[in-house]
Amino acid sequence: MIIGLTGGIGAGKSTVARLFHQLGIHCVDADRVARDLVEPGTPLLAQLVAHFGPELLDRDQLNRAKLRQIIFQEPSAKAWLEQQMHPLIRAEIHRTLREPAFESPYQILEAPLLFENQLESLCHSTILVDTSVELQMERTVQRDGSTSATIAAIIASQMPADQKRLKADHIVHNSGDLDDLSAQVTRLHHQLIDNQTAKPETA
Ligand code: ADP
Repeated sequence: MIIGLTGGIGAGKSTVARLFHQLGIHCVDADRVARDLVEPGTPLLAQLVAHFGPELLDRDQLNRAKLRQIIFQEPSAKAWLEQQMHPLIRAEIHRTLREPAFESPYQILEAPLLFENQLESLCHSTILVDTSVELQMERTVQRDGSTSATIAAIIASQMPADQKRLKADHIVHNSGDLDDLSAQVTRLHHQLIDNQTAKPETA
């Protein structure tokens, strides 16, 4: 059983994924998968350099700031990039989630853009980590040292939280402290296991 985990920037996805991991759950991070696909020496990185030019590289590493700048200025560049990357990301996530090398009662797929990129189609159900925009900004500014304006622009580019609330099967409310968050994750963990074991009887 694969459970999608999403939420806006700074909502607390990584923190929630860590709590699931502490409960023995295997977690896959979609951003990590995407980053690994463009490591030095990968065919995808070579393809991006062939398309956008050698200025995309900083030594042999992808210059992410440069790539962000290119796709920000040119919507067709963004579309092309997504066309190249999304099927590969999807296939790699699929492959990673199928690896049977661990004993996990279910698996978590953490993806900031789970709904935006239709990754929920890989999942049996979804969890939204939800908090106020004010707390998202405050926690992200503290975590990354970015300006409020940068964070506000990222929040504006993501699907609004009320749309995500309609799509999610479960919501974790992250406006309290970490103990409160941990208690919710533990409750949800037991609920997910109960649902899973209940399924064959109700089928
Ligand atoms: P995301 O992965 O959704 O971008 P994070 O899990 O990294 O968000 O959380 C953003 C920041 O807020 C991190 O520094 C994290 O430690 C902190 N944080 C998350 N939840 C809480 C909470 N309930 N109380 C205090 N700080 C929190």
